[in-house]
Amino acid sequence: MTSDPLALAPEEWKTLLAELDQPAYRAAQIQDWIFKKRVRNWSGMTDLPAGLRRLLEERFPVARLAKVRETGARDTTRKFLFRLADGQLIESVLIPASPALYGEASDRRTICVSSQVGCAYGCKFCASGLDGWKRNLSAGEIVDQFLQVESESGEKINNIVFMGMGEPMANYDNLLRAIRALNAPWGVGVGARHMTVSTSGLVPRIRDLATQPLQVRLAISLHGASNEVRERIMPVNKKYPVEELLSACEDFTRLKKQKITFEYILIEGVNDSEDQARLLAGHGRRLRAKINLIPYNTVEGLSWQRPSESVQERFLSILQHAGADATLRREKGHDIAAACGQLRLQVEKSFAQPEHLN
Ligand code: SAH
Ligand code: SF4
Repeated sequence: MTSDPLALAPEEWKTLLAELDQPAYRAAQIQDWIFKKRVRNWSGMTDLPAGLRRLLEERFPVARLAKVRETGARDTTRKFLFRLADGQLIESVLIPASPALYGEASDRRTICVSSQVGCAYGCKFCASGLDGWKRNLSAGEIVDQFLQVESESGEKINNIVFMGMGEPMANYDNLLRAIRALNAPWGVGVGARHMTVSTSGLVPRIRDLATQPLQVRLAISLHGASNEVRERIMPVNKKYPVEELLSACEDFTRLKKQKITFEYILIEGVNDSEDQARLLAGHGRRLRAKINLIPYNTVEGLSWQRPSESVQERFLSILQHAGADATLRREKGHDIAAACGQLRLQVEKSFAQPEHLN
């Protein structure tokens, strides 16, 4: 059992409270303070007996994420740099709805959360893995990104993507625990269909997630339609080759009755050939998946480039002519800096509406 008050389920609180000779209804009181009233310090929970507050204070000293820096402003992408209790740094990004895509009235606000400090998967194009993997985030640290960004920004967030730093599926237990707290009525209360887990393709975990009752959505970072191409940029492909990955995705789609998304970054001279487009179209059609093409965002220190616009358009048109459900993000600038900041591009379009097969 975790000892993180942000991630404890009601049943776990009840067990813990029983050990402290406290009635079970205190569980609901505590969770109400944390998630509804957004009070985190035990001393502020005024309907709890003073003795219990002191006990909780000793057992769960309040450790919240400390904001180190914030970039961006209201109605633009805002990036938050947080320091964890042990000094490590992580990022979360708040992405407003784009009026161009949703109309002026849209109130969609998405948070992109990190799941680990660093990443062990070492995809060749990605900034998050450059320094290797440091540690998993606890479930509470994942949940706290949501709470702190809402409190820092004064905005209400209604969409969550696990696309920040790290591979969420490699931190599976904490990921699920965080998803439960973010989703549950006793917790934050964001609908599971408004959460998307993005993975570089950890096949066993995709199969595990498929057996969960939660209707969270799945995005696969494909970035190569054949083993030969994918292996060049994603070492994980050696362990879980394309065919195995697609078969897990197929089972996921069938079990969940849910469309998945293929993310496909276009990188010049690497994965942008017409052959790759044709193969990708085949995968998309076979899985009835949505394909999200994203022109690569250059990363300092890495030499990869995005292809020209005409190559991007040609790639898209091959997909569409082959009957695949594909979109291309046509944003021009490379203006959104580093890590999950760049993910605004993916997030805006592909994770706009929950999509289901039936
Ligand atoms: N580890 C998970 C989630 C975090 S990365 C995963 O790989 O899916 C989230 C997305 O950002 C992935 O699709 C990843 O491939 C993409 N990404 C990483 N670096 C990028 C870059 N420089 N430009 C565009 N997308 C990038
Ligand atoms: Fe890790 Fe995802 Fe970046 Fe690959 S793309 S290094 S899995 S964060």
